[in-house]
Amino acid sequence: MKAEIIAVGTELLLGQIVNTNAQFLSQELATLGIDVYFQTVVGDNLNRLQESIALASQRADIIVLTGGIGPTQDDLTKDALAALLGRELHIDRLAMDHVENFFNSRGAHMTENNRRQATVVEGSTPLANPTGLAVGNALSHEGKYYIILPGPPKEMAPMFHEEAKPWLLQHALTNEMPIYSTMLKFAGIGESALEERLLELIQNQSDPTIAPYAKEGEVTVRISTKAHSEKEAMIKLDATEEQIRLLLPNHLYATEDIPIEKAIVDLMADHGMTLGVAESCTGGLLMERITSVPGSATMFLGGIVCYSNQLKEKLLNVPHDLLEGDEAPGAVSAEVAQVLAEQVRMIADTDFGLSITGVAGPGYSERKPVGLVYIAIAERGKKTEVHELRLGGNRESIRIRTVKSLLYRLWLKIMQSDKLQQDS
Ligand code: ATP
Ligand code: MG
Repeated sequence: MKAEIIAVGTELLLGQIVNTNAQFLSQELATLGIDVYFQTVVGDNLNRLQESIALASQRADIIVLTGGIGPTQDDLTKDALAALLGRELHIDRLAMDHVENFFNSRGAHMTENNRRQATVVEGSTPLANPTGLAVGNALSHEGKYYIILPGPPKEMAPMFHEEAKPWLLQHALTNEMPIYSTMLKFAGIGESALEERLLELIQNQSDPTIAPYAKEGEVTVRISTKAHSEKEAMIKLDATEEQIRLLLPNHLYATEDIPIEKAIVDLMADHGMTLGVAESCTGGLLMERITSVPGSATMFLGGIVCYSNQLKEKLLNVPHDLLEGDEAPGAVSAEVAQVLAEQVRMIADTDFGLSITGVAGPGYSERKPVGLVYIAIAERGKKTEVHELRLGGNRESIRIRTVKSLLYRLWLKIMQSDKLQQDS
């Protein structure tokens, strides 16, 4: 089945609002196994709207329209579809009750044009709008399926889930197998490097399909397959997941859509591990990420934002001659990163201690370049691991990438730790 999404609204064409409905609908239709070949945007104009629907009807089986079903004269979506199909519009009694109740319950006066929100195309199934007033429509005509949804996302999304999707499953997708997918999450590797390692697999395999994409600096791979049952699907998905895991052993941190800090918190909490943190140039960003995860209290004991040299010295016992003097390596150095991680681990008495010290910019500090950052991981009874990072970008992206990098290193270290090996 092929679908086309038509977003209606002059404000979309003027760039006043972003077409998030198309994004939402494309994602939803993809999970139903429906291919979206075109997304169209058209203004509030009857003729052009009809033209768009006519064109979509030639190249798609399912046409999903969103927007233009409110009370005003520029809300023309239903008029356009009815005119094109040669059908009438009429008031749906239930939808009219819904609109009237809304005004009555507020003691407000209902104007005549509000009746337009209760209209449906003759012979269509009304789609209830629990979060708004305008009723949606679903109908089939000459082998094509048409869905009309409201424009406001908070009305469109629930109507899609509760009304349009079941209708599609019952009417249009009766012979289609449902699509199942697993989301694999990766860290410590960029999108292109990941794709390169999976290239052969992706090219030689059509079922399950393997689709990598990068979002907010994280790489995700979605593997999808059509199957008659979940069990049948899982056998195929698990096999592909295993192949991918073998190709990227040290990067696959989750098989569901969670951030890496959640994977870390869960792992540490499950194995009774604890963490302390000393942050300089990231000013608490790492601790923010960790504490944003529910349940982090069981593994995260706390930390120190030691922004100044004084505090590094006073609270974390960094020797003065490491920080200052002509021969000193300075605050941004592997030596200081190591002391910070080891000291915070000792003071907090945790299994792991992390530290970050670097130049987030703009401008040099200690004659060191922007983007030079040291991160360290101290583990009880183990040699401390220090990494030098040379990051590009502005202050914000340097700070974010530093945190990501350290989270990845920590995850890797936990995975390889003796305790985890013993427990598993
Ligand atoms: P209303 O009853 O509010 O008039 P409607 O169904 O007629 O709803 P529109 O008038 O087209 O929808 O749009 C109303 C509002 O919904 C827009 O101002 C915008 O905020 C949001 N909206 C409409 N279309 C989209 C879209 N494609 N993506 C995201 N938001 C949208
Ligand atoms: Mg409107």
